[in-house]
Amino acid sequence: MKLQDALTHSSTKFPAILLFGMPGVGKGTQGTLLGTMRGVRHVSTGAIFRALDRNSDEGREVFSRIDHGKLVPDESAIRIWRHWVDDQVALSQYDPSREVLLLDGLPRSRRQCELLEEHIDVLCVIHLECEQIDPLIARLMQRGQGRADDSDEGVIRRRFDIYRQTTHPVLAYYPTSVVFSIDPIGSVMQIKKRIMEVVIPILNARGVLISEDETAA
Ligand code: ADP
Repeated sequence: MKLQDALTHSSTKFPAILLFGMPGVGKGTQGTLLGTMRGVRHVSTGAIFRALDRNSDEGREVFSRIDHGKLVPDESAIRIWRHWVDDQVALSQYDPSREVLLLDGLPRSRRQCELLEEHIDVLCVIHLECEQIDPLIARLMQRGQGRADDSDEGVIRRRFDIYRQTTHPVLAYYPTSVVFSIDPIGSVMQIKKRIMEVVIPILNARGVLISEDETAA
């Protein structure tokens, strides 16, 4: 079924590709790059949360978690994300009939997977799979300027603990046939190419045609 048909027919579910992996593994870099392609809308929940007004009710709840390396509560995370998507549609920044969502940082717990069932149709999960956390911690400390949660090693280590305990089980929620492991070591363009090899056939099958220059590494 073509993307357009999928959306107009069955439901209001958004077709989505999940970009998954530990903090600092490169989800944001790859998401931003892939999001420049026609037909792909990159959405980072971390970026949505950091853009909230710290003094609003939502902002207070969110920053009290983020600043300490903890997850935003599941129901709030999904609600805020969904409002953001609806706003993007209303502002004509996202066209669900033509674009696939590339979700970066969502879902982050099994509960979020369940809550998302009514909102998204998961086309595939791109797992940027890395065994070693020390290089990632060093990378996060380097990018630290401007982000409170990247400046404190204790906060960073808590994020890895939460990833292991709460976020990693997300992988087992989805059928293995839609989960693709990608080696995140290499140049930005090498990693992009590995992801594109998985994503392009899936997008093409949904009626999103990617041109050759967009696929070039
Ligand atoms: P990273 O992948 O390096 O942790 P992100 O920008 O994706 O960076 O996330 C930053 C913080 O935002 C997380 O540590 C967490 O506090 C919060 N966050 C992001 N996405 C979610 C989510 N889906 N559920 C709950 N909290 C989230």
